[in-house]
Amino acid sequence: MHNKTSSSSASQVGAPVAHFIRSIVEADLASGKHDRIATRFPPEPNGYLHVGHAKSICLNFGLAQDYQGTCNLRFDDTNPEKESEEYANAIMEDVRWLGFQWNGEVRWASDYFQALYDYAENLIEQGKAYVCDLTPEAMREFRGTLTEPGRPSPYRERTPAENLDLFRRMKAGEFADGAKTLRAKIDMASPNINLRDPVIYRIKRAHHIRTGDAWCIYPMYDYTHCISDALECITHSLCTLEFEDHRPLYDWVLDQLPVPSHPRQIEFSRLELHYTITSKRKLLQLVTQGIVAGWDDPRMPTIHGMRRRGYTPAGIREFARRIGISKSENIVDMAVLEGAIREDLEAKAPRVMAVLNPLKVVLTNFEEGVTASRTAGFHPQHPEFGERDVPIAREIWIERDDFAEVPPPGWQRLTPGGEVRLRYSYVIQCEEVVKDADGQVVELRCAIDHATLGQNPVGRKVKGVIHWVSAAHAVAIEARLYDRLFLDPIPDGHKGRDFLEFLNPDSLQVVKGWAEACVSGAEPEARYQFERLGYFCTDRFEHQPGGRPVFNRTVTLKDSWAKEQG
Ligand code: ATP
Ligand code: MG
Repeated sequence: MHNKTSSSSASQVGAPVAHFIRSIVEADLASGKHDRIATRFPPEPNGYLHVGHAKSICLNFGLAQDYQGTCNLRFDDTNPEKESEEYANAIMEDVRWLGFQWNGEVRWASDYFQALYDYAENLIEQGKAYVCDLTPEAMREFRGTLTEPGRPSPYRERTPAENLDLFRRMKAGEFADGAKTLRAKIDMASPNINLRDPVIYRIKRAHHIRTGDAWCIYPMYDYTHCISDALECITHSLCTLEFEDHRPLYDWVLDQLPVPSHPRQIEFSRLELHYTITSKRKLLQLVTQGIVAGWDDPRMPTIHGMRRRGYTPAGIREFARRIGISKSENIVDMAVLEGAIREDLEAKAPRVMAVLNPLKVVLTNFEEGVTASRTAGFHPQHPEFGERDVPIAREIWIERDDFAEVPPPGWQRLTPGGEVRLRYSYVIQCEEVVKDADGQVVELRCAIDHATLGQNPVGRKVKGVIHWVSAAHAVAIEARLYDRLFLDPIPDGHKGRDFLEFLNPDSLQVVKGWAEACVSGAEPEARYQFERLGYFCTDRFEHQPGGRPVFNRTVTLKDSWAKEQG
């Protein structure tokens, strides 16, 4: 009831930001080069998607939306050993959860294996591809370096007829894995190493998630990707900058073949986020070594992880909008991501009180029938979220660090003899501090000023307001408090040092606390602001409605990182 979203009123949020790819698209539509655009998002199903992929998803699907075009989801499944159905399913779930829908059916590069094979025969017949017997080591040696041209393979001058025969026998399984390759015949002296007769097919007896054992030769990524784009009549093929040097190969392949279209490849810079990593290989390592609980651990920068932590699709899309698209380095502070999430939750999450480090307070003059409770709205700007009763009783919980026996200068919260207001309730005064044998404060005894319910105390100012819950009414909760996973801003940026050396040992803290009773019926993935503490979300999997609520802290209220930096 009170966890419904309302549309954000901030006018700046969500307005498209101009960037060079948008300009290209607009020019192509204006000139009539294209009358509609077609983009694609082409993940390899070899891991879960991360925040960098979210940038690419928002770009590709976002452009299609903004210009009434289409965006395909195509799995780049050319590496059978590393790919799985689990990953493919998680990727589809992530794209939908982010709020996008692909055009038609999901596509697979493997749908084109026969077409790709036929095009390879075409290249061979044109004398533009040959079967090579060099070992990988020899091939590397022949390839040359950035400063030295390559040398032609001794197999480069095989005739088309011989190549066709050998290629067909490769396909038929006559040769051992790795014994031969098919290479494009381009230019061994090119300054661009990608054009020095790149391998376009390899022999690999591996079971494929879609085609099973039908093939023992698999096309290479560079050869597959451009043809897949062309077959789908993609207009703008957007990829990250590391493919810039591959563009001449992309264009070369399409120029040689009778493909239905010639998409334009455009590169933009990858997103890197401080204090985390955006490499599927390294994320996999965190999972397989048990450093995190899984791909969807809320500390992971994966879309599954961010979802479980309580990040919202709208918040992630807003983040992608803010970081923009360009060709210059895109290393972004975590504060930008957290800021976008916080802003979205600010307007959407109902507010309740919870105490995560409880200290008992006994209200000595609490009087049944005299001491009254008030109701409070779930959101100051959204009366439509409704309200609830905030019951008070003789014993309440407050946050341990809202009390200081020896208060620092400027302290406005509770202290011996001092006064503070309980949010939505009375002003109380601390009369007695009860300690255990070790001198630990175990309880405070406070008196209610019964004249202060909804009114200022007479003759004095009480500035501090603290949150609290009634011990008799509150529900016990588990709260998982997450911190950044790494202690270094660029954990994989240190030569000779492993990124795992920079793990934050305190990235997860699990605490038992108390929250207002109204959260007890929350569904999984229900979001709340715990006043003064942060935004929390019930766990997608481990929270059972009716059981003890399990909350993940999504993000703190203030930007604690900016504060640390000064
Ligand atoms: P791999 O090393 O496994 O190829 P990858 O991160 O490139 O990893 P893909 O599944 O190939 O993974 O990526 C799908 C799409 O997402 C590609 O178009 C890729 O350019 C884009 N992408 C990947 N990482 C980022 C990133 N950090 N920022 C922006 N886009 C990214
Ligand atoms: Mg890739």
